[in-house]
Amino acid sequence: MKVLLIYPYASFKVMPPSAWMPLSLSYLAAPLLRAGHEVKIFDRYAAQFRAGQDKSAVDRAMLKALSEFRPDVVAFNTVSPLVFDLVECAALVRHVFNGPILAGGHHVTALPQATLNKIPQLDAVICGEGEYSLLHYIEGQNHHDIPGLWFRENGSIIGSPPVQIPALDQLPFPDFSLMDLGYYLNRSLDTIRHRYVSTISLLTSRGCVKKCEFCSESLTYGKGVRFHSPEYVAELVYRVYKDYGIEGIYFHDNDFLINRARTEKICDLMMKRGLHKQIIWGIQARAEHIELALVKRLKQAGCVLIEIGIESSSQAVLDAMHKDSTVEVNQRAIKVCQEGGMGIHSYMLTGVEGETQADLEQRLEWLKKVRPNSFSWSQLEIHPGTRLYERLRRGVFETMPWTRDAVRDYYYQQNLSAITAEDRAVWMRKHYEPYQRLIRRYNTIRTNRPRRLWSFFAMKAKEKLSRQGKK
Ligand code: SF4
Repeated sequence: MKVLLIYPYASFKVMPPSAWMPLSLSYLAAPLLRAGHEVKIFDRYAAQFRAGQDKSAVDRAMLKALSEFRPDVVAFNTVSPLVFDLVECAALVRHVFNGPILAGGHHVTALPQATLNKIPQLDAVICGEGEYSLLHYIEGQNHHDIPGLWFRENGSIIGSPPVQIPALDQLPFPDFSLMDLGYYLNRSLDTIRHRYVSTISLLTSRGCVKKCEFCSESLTYGKGVRFHSPEYVAELVYRVYKDYGIEGIYFHDNDFLINRARTEKICDLMMKRGLHKQIIWGIQARAEHIELALVKRLKQAGCVLIEIGIESSSQAVLDAMHKDSTVEVNQRAIKVCQEGGMGIHSYMLTGVEGETQADLEQRLEWLKKVRPNSFSWSQLEIHPGTRLYERLRRGVFETMPWTRDAVRDYYYQQNLSAITAEDRAVWMRKHYEPYQRLIRRYNTIRTNRPRRLWSFFAMKAKEKLSRQGKK
């Protein structure tokens, strides 16, 4: 069978020179290829890097890929903020394609019935981890026996709960050769913060044991955490280094340090294979698992960055989000990383319930005081499938239209803070952005060798010239 996997378009005014790869499609493709099927990925996100903001050019390229490849099955991945793209693409594809069209990802896992109701062109959706369910679907297994599959039957929509993949090591290595490597392997400052390197992202565990109110991680991966073995991880790192000549790896695991013995073993195996001398890497971790001895071990093994979801410098806000963390623990984690010479990035959330301008000021002051190497503030988004959605927006997505404007309005209007989005934007421009730019410049110069810095500035100059040429 031939399967075309499609990743959604995100509509950025300025595309970054590179980005974290959409790992999910590489993972989905691997078991299909192992079973002898043919797979192609059409990545609408990467395609816009080449087509610019011309969405119709991306649509045309997608339809061209469809007519050239002539798949038996088309499958989309989607997330709630981009579900309008699934709606538009499903209509475009159905116009010229008679075979089954499927969708998977966080959004359909949260709202399988609503997805099938709203998008009549879809034949089925797959909830949870899709690797084996998609394989079973294309191999013709009875729909009733496929975990996580929702479909129409006799005028109703029926489905079954997803089942976790028990032994992750049985999954084949993700296939990156299907991705647009001409885009993703470009050097970038954004994948391993401020390091101008070419990277690939990997996922070595799935799930999280915490229950932050805004987070949808456990929705797709289910309860608890499952791991790839250290041997699997070291071999995978070695292969991607050898096959793609990358300079860095970003591990997307929610908490790379949750199992300390496993983390130490991964470090040991990477050093044993000499990988610590060839590549640098970055991880995400919970603050409470950051200890000095472990930080030193990570550093020896090539890790240069730990990213923490600190979210807020107010204990009341952390408690309200059910973050199960304290300001003190977060502060200590930053200090430990500084002592161990490890780069640290702090993710912060803004737009939380009741947020005032004084809260923004206090948070920025806190960052200036504790001085993580870098930080980012993301706008809180209330996604279907989260506990926050159930508390504040239950039923909204199910009943609203899934058009581009309606979905954008939904996300735009969900500002829960006490100041308006406009006032916050003004404050951010005046106070947050200059400080963030300053830190970014400082770290870029501090952490990159002169030759690499030179190639970064040369790339920026080229970009500027090409923009001027377009004008
Ligand atoms: S925000 Fe992080 S710690 Fe909280 S539930 Fe999500 S993945 Fe887990």
